[in-house]
Amino acid sequence: MPVSAVVFDFFGTLTPSTPSHVWDDHAARSAAPLGIPVETWRAALDVSFPERAIGALGGLTETFRELVRRCGHDVDEAALAAACAARMTAQRELFLLRDDAVKTLTEIRARGLPVGVLSDCSAELAESWLSLPLAELVDGVVLSCEVGRRKPDPELFALIAARLGAVPQECLYVGDGGGHELTGASSCGMTAYMLRAHDWAGNDAHSRETDWSGPAVRSLSEVLDLL
Ligand SMILES: [Mg+2]
Repeated sequence: MPVSAVVFDFFGTLTPSTPSHVWDDHAARSAAPLGIPVETWRAALDVSFPERAIGALGGLTETFRELVRRCGHDVDEAALAAACAARMTAQRELFLLRDDAVKTLTEIRARGLPVGVLSDCSAELAESWLSLPLAELVDGVVLSCEVGRRKPDPELFALIAARLGAVPQECLYVGDGGGHELTGASSCGMTAYMLRAHDWAGNDAHSRETDWSGPAVRSLSEVLDLL
């Protein structure tokens, strides 16, 4: 069946990989105003990802309030606000796209195919989405924290296909493999390609399927050759 829509993962796919030391730095920046040791705060962030990714802890402020409590600290509202601001600044650095992303997305749409984004993400991306240039470059988006489901939940793949006006069997899915998304997309009938870019090995992602044996591309631009 010919491809009639293309779905991209966000983190580590449309954006560059994020090594562990960057996550450490980001944790340090939001831990500082709270007076919480960075290792404790980083662990609280990591352990809570499954909850944060399905929006179970609310927006960013509510989420951080709960994490502060879990770290055994009292909540100081001014410190909480400063920590949230530091977190958003740090996260926005992660929302910058790969060099060939805009050109690739623009070309796909120029060929008449809708483009979608399906991301396992927490409140920061959802709260920023409409202000990102990327929002203008895609025809549909599904963010896990807004839907209350994480990859590889089949409902997510069905939902993004529907938002693009396509059936999954007509969709090409491209991702770095986080959240076992490639297996999830394939199971739903999509044709899945791993983006195994030059920085792939250094990416620190949750539940990445490093054993993916299916097809791969080495850059976003290569996706154009598949259409
Ligand atoms: Mg990813």
